[in-house]
Amino acid sequence: MKFRALLTAVVGITTATTTLALPADAAPPGAAQPQQVAAGDPAQAAAAADKAVSSQVDELTRGPDESYNRVAVTPGASEMYYVSYERTYKGLPMVGGDAVVVVDGAGKVRDTVAATGPSPRGVATTATISAEQATETAKTRLSRVDDTAAPRLVVLAWGEQPVLTWEAVVSGILDGKPSIQHVFVDARTGKIADSYDLVRAGTGNSYYYGQVTIGTSGSGSSYSLTDTSRPGIQCGGQNGSAYTGTDDTWGNSSGTNLETACVDALYSVQREWDMLRDWLGRNGINGNGRGFPARVGLNAVNAYWTGSYTNFGHNQANTQQATPIDVVAHEFGHAIFQTTPGGAGSGNENGGLNEATGDIFGAITEAYAANSNDPADYLVGEEVNLVGQGPIRNMYNPSALGDPNCYSSSIPSTEVHAAAGPLNHWFYLLAEGNNPGGGKPSSPICSGGPSSVTGVGIQTAAKIFMGALNRKTSSWRYANVRAASVAAAIELYGANSAQCRSTKAAWSGINVVAASNEPACT
Ligand SMILES: [Zn+2]
Repeated sequence: MKFRALLTAVVGITTATTTLALPADAAPPGAAQPQQVAAGDPAQAAAAADKAVSSQVDELTRGPDESYNRVAVTPGASEMYYVSYERTYKGLPMVGGDAVVVVDGAGKVRDTVAATGPSPRGVATTATISAEQATETAKTRLSRVDDTAAPRLVVLAWGEQPVLTWEAVVSGILDGKPSIQHVFVDARTGKIADSYDLVRAGTGNSYYYGQVTIGTSGSGSSYSLTDTSRPGIQCGGQNGSAYTGTDDTWGNSSGTNLETACVDALYSVQREWDMLRDWLGRNGINGNGRGFPARVGLNAVNAYWTGSYTNFGHNQANTQQATPIDVVAHEFGHAIFQTTPGGAGSGNENGGLNEATGDIFGAITEAYAANSNDPADYLVGEEVNLVGQGPIRNMYNPSALGDPNCYSSSIPSTEVHAAAGPLNHWFYLLAEGNNPGGGKPSSPICSGGPSSVTGVGIQTAAKIFMGALNRKTSSWRYANVRAASVAAAIELYGANSAQCRSTKAAWSGINVVAASNEPACT
């Protein structure tokens, strides 16, 4: 059910005391449009992909003790299905052995991608370290442990040498922030071989969108901030339950009112959901018709994706909640990264790609929403004044806020939000070009890059980026995103297209060079 929520706006640009009554916002764009779905059917795509896997075509070659298990079939734009697989070695899951098969609506295999790693042949498959010992070791990664899950024995193939490890999942607190660590403990030596944190911290500002329509549920005198038309989307406080009420009017326009924060959060994620459907052909946040809950009232100057829900805090002055479109879409962007093939990988470079994915979905969703209270731009948190210094990241010129513009060998050791800089910069160059005019900011090209880059528009750039994400594997680095996005541009627009040329030029513009086998834009 959809009802109108009464919400007047508080606009806090530099002073939170400026209060303006704003006109009612238009109905959400595309709200009544039908779902865009691929032709053919998922079962046909799965069968075609399974056949490609069993015949070991292209990148799907495997060793004698290896096999592939199908994980998911995700419909995408241009009538494609992305069928993802996990590889096993002697029956053990191989982390870093994942693969994606791209199948078109006619059931024809169009592409294969596999995480690149060394052969697991010869790796021991019996542990000498117990699961309990591995859990104890994993717990040392946190300053406070709240929960542990039983570890699973896996072959870790992300490094130089595959190794038998226990994958332990421990959750709690690290450096004062929530953390859910996947820790890979060498099952023969007991040493930590690798780890990654599912929790993605972001920061954001606080906007208000005037009087908006939000998806809720209920009837009579019992309502809930639970979106019945977008399964999994709901909003409430820190206990995880959706807010409820006796009528379907929510919020009071106050920057410190948490029900109001939920109105902002729901409005924002509902725009992101609709954008995914209308622009990118993706069904829901997870690609298979579902989203995740949002919580507000987090006692922190920050916002988080926790691996299963988003959580939003407030600005330092504690006058506004961190629930505008670019912050909300950033956090749910982490959910998209986690639920596209390969999931979230390890290391700062992969983490930087994850953070940039959040920033990119923030910019795309702002553009889609086209809400006059929040003009589209390529800044992150531009009006929050989260800590009194304006935006926290700049996508067209990351170095303006201290982040690198260009890819370099230091990215793998750069903090993840900073390591997002080059990919954010790539997206701007692709979407807008280096010198778009029309009042849009120009963007520097890194030394050694092309003399200019022609923008393809944000919707087209978004399609290319989504097409790349649909070919993600767990070992993704910048070079893999270049390859995946070029493949996506060719899939969507053909090799003989301006989109293909701009995709490559934008990569060269941030110093990510072409692999020797990169297809030409002929
Ligand atoms: Zn983030």
